[in-house]
Amino acid sequence: KIFIPKSPLKCAKVPEMQTQLEDSAKPIVDPHDIDSKLVQKLANDALVWCSLRGLLVGDRNSERSGTIPGVDMVHAPVALIPMSFPESHWKQACEVAPIFNELVDRVSQDGEFLQQSLSRTRKADPFTSRLLEIHSKMLEINKLEEIRLGLHRSDYMLDEQTKLLLQIELNTISSSFPGLSCLVSELHRSLLQQYREDIASDPNRIPANNAVNQFAEALAKAWNEYGDPRAVIIFVVQAEERNMYDQHWLSASLRERYPTSNDRYGFNDCRDGQAVAVIYFRAGYAPSDYHSESEWKARLLMEQSRAVKCPSISYHLAGSKKIQQELAKPNVLERFLENKDDIAKLRKCFAGLWSLDESDIVKDAIERPELYVMKPQREGGGLAQEIDCLYCNYTSKSLILDPLLTAGNNIYGEDVRGALLKLQKEGTGSDAAYILMQRIFPKISHSILMREGISHKEETISELGIYGTYLRNKTEVLINQQAGYLMRTKVSSSDEGGVAAGFAVLDSIYLV
Ligand code: ADP
Ligand code: MG
Ligand code: MG
Repeated sequence: KIFIPKSPLKCAKVPEMQTQLEDSAKPIVDPHDIDSKLVQKLANDALVWCSLRGLLVGDRNSERSGTIPGVDMVHAPVALIPMSFPESHWKQACEVAPIFNELVDRVSQDGEFLQQSLSRTRKADPFTSRLLEIHSKMLEINKLEEIRLGLHRSDYMLDEQTKLLLQIELNTISSSFPGLSCLVSELHRSLLQQYREDIASDPNRIPANNAVNQFAEALAKAWNEYGDPRAVIIFVVQAEERNMYDQHWLSASLRERYPTSNDRYGFNDCRDGQAVAVIYFRAGYAPSDYHSESEWKARLLMEQSRAVKCPSISYHLAGSKKIQQELAKPNVLERFLENKDDIAKLRKCFAGLWSLDESDIVKDAIERPELYVMKPQREGGGLAQEIDCLYCNYTSKSLILDPLLTAGNNIYGEDVRGALLKLQKEGTGSDAAYILMQRIFPKISHSILMREGISHKEETISELGIYGTYLRNKTEVLINQQAGYLMRTKVSSSDEGGVAAGFAVLDSIYLV
């Protein structure tokens, strides 16, 4: 029998719009209908705004831009006009955020479930195996994490045919862009305000986005719960990080509002003797973050410490693709949640998810690979977990075969068939490193995408991320909220083999 801590599920408050919306939701102008002169003006104003307001990333053409702040910066890739999004689906996504937060917490407390569900993956995937090893050690010493902090982002696509909002994944580690996403919403509101007459749209239809301050608040409250005023918050970051301004926005918000100090460290250079209250990971989600044994040692040390980890090893594992697939099986949610309505709300946004030992599904995926995505137990290879992926490279075979989808770890289209047949032939159990997922087909929209100072009118698809913050101390839930959003829009192209396709930008939403 598993231990479920008793805590009331706090209900989601759907964020209020700043002003009352008119009843008749008018769609925003078709961006492709905006004449080129006006696009020029909008683009110029957007570029100035990004530069003045810090909507920036390190320039990928510069070597120093990932290590030294303040040099070789470029505006973040952004959409010029926010993406239309149905208000009902927006509300639905906000409403489930605190339920997912609670679910992650409860799953994290069931060590046996995590170990069991990942036992086959462990044999097939060395990275997961290392994480599980740390997790096992914590189980052995009966390590209690009384203060638990989650800074999550649940990502969705709106399936065009079924009109269902379907979850792509739930990120529990290094959920990126809380800083820049707020700025994109502000940029769009400012442009719509300024060009109100020309593009006849209502800036108040862009929902307020306060992700960065809500993340800062959660970090600060966790620090406060830790209860040592001299202890600090540390950000564990990659040695080279061109998305550093997103992270600096969060640091700045913390410094401005709270009496805590926070510092950036690499995995290997955490100082001895400094009391640490909260460890916030913006690294450690990918094998490439662990160059040697010393990073694994550092991760273990951090996990053993009394500090609040964001995420703890069990939160990290609870966000893995394999666990997502296990949770989608019948009667598994019931193991963690009591409220039937909550369970129904989560289940409604689950896409089809399968393990590769389900032979009927594998057979079907071999016959109709275009309806599936094959995902390895990996994080951050997809559409812009971090900014580098916004500029996806074009070397992936999958991408060239299928420019609808960004380069990364996932396998699509014909490659699914190939990969499945290969795994079947090998028969070594390495299939346990993957899951199969129903492929979601979002609506194709018109966008204007800005990259390196140039605007492009493109056909696009979008993915909506909803941030969630969660903090508890023992049985008391201190924070459980929806905490802002991130829209990402990427070039789509039905033109298979088209290498010209394929980049993604930060976006915001315009409720219709
Ligand atoms: P990661 O942790 O690497 O970000 P994701 O599960 O988010 O992994 O997959 C990466 C990208 O692949 C997503 O951003 C999305 O664009 C695409 N993708 C993932 N799953 C699906 C799916 N079921 N249908 C369509 N596209 C998907
Ligand atoms: Mg992810
Ligand atoms: Mg993702």
